[in-house]
Amino acid sequence: MCLASVWGEMKTVDMSHDLSIATPLWGGLPKFNFTILHRDNTSRGFWLEMNAFQVPEHSGTHLDAPSHLSEGSWRTQRIPMDNLFGPGVVINVTDKVLADPDYRVKTSDLSQWEANYGRIPPNAVIIMNSGWQYKFPNRTLVFNSADPEDTSTYHFPGWHEETVQWLVDNRKVNIIGVDTPSMDYGQSTHFPVHILLGKNRIPGLENVANLDNVPKHGATIYVPVVKLYDCSGGPARVFATYDDDATVICFASRVSLGVSFVLLLFVFLFPYVLLIRVNRRERAC
Ligand SMILES: [Zn+2]
Repeated sequence: MCLASVWGEMKTVDMSHDLSIATPLWGGLPKFNFTILHRDNTSRGFWLEMNAFQVPEHSGTHLDAPSHLSEGSWRTQRIPMDNLFGPGVVINVTDKVLADPDYRVKTSDLSQWEANYGRIPPNAVIIMNSGWQYKFPNRTLVFNSADPEDTSTYHFPGWHEETVQWLVDNRKVNIIGVDTPSMDYGQSTHFPVHILLGKNRIPGLENVANLDNVPKHGATIYVPVVKLYDCSGGPARVFATYDDDATVICFASRVSLGVSFVLLLFVFLFPYVLLIRVNRRERAC
């Protein structure tokens, strides 16, 4: 590990959309409810803000616990912390989605990524970047439908179940995500990707933001989901960290280490050399 990260040279990317009354919700879900309990000076002279909110688990940028579509699998609080972060792998399918909004990520998209950046690292957080982030929070655009209450009208991209099966069989994955409202594409009726992930205890991640600002490889992505007890998912403040200029900074740190080593040698050797000289003089006397 490069010392640069210890010195605070890491860049950070916020990968969550605002969670608010404007958040585009899946058809049929109850509305986001936000109540201001207090936002004023108190009679004792200090300012006090407090609110209450009520929101469906699967709203905005959120994690799908494996139990979401797989009975008996992990609910939110059972997902180990070790599984909630990992090396970021961003699969860019923006061009393909422009031609086909019902696009599903193929194994060839993964092969292309590996040809560019090497084998997908263990414990990866793999996220599809389809360019969908720019449609938020417009509900009509996000669900690509004139009637977002009717879920059968949705047209947005997601993962193909064969691609996810390949990942399950051939790579070690912590989380699979999308910048759209579902890992299964909008026209899915039986949600095979959700079921496959749930059975294999792999959480999903939906409505991810700012993927264009995350390196396609080399970042670490964190998914700190709210620890809601017995829930099938929950909102998460997803973020990525990466070293902006690892080569230069590592070189600088190596130079600094070299200088420090020479100084240490000097500090320890100088008294020893002085002692030898004094001894010689005493013998000469
Ligand atoms: Zn969900």
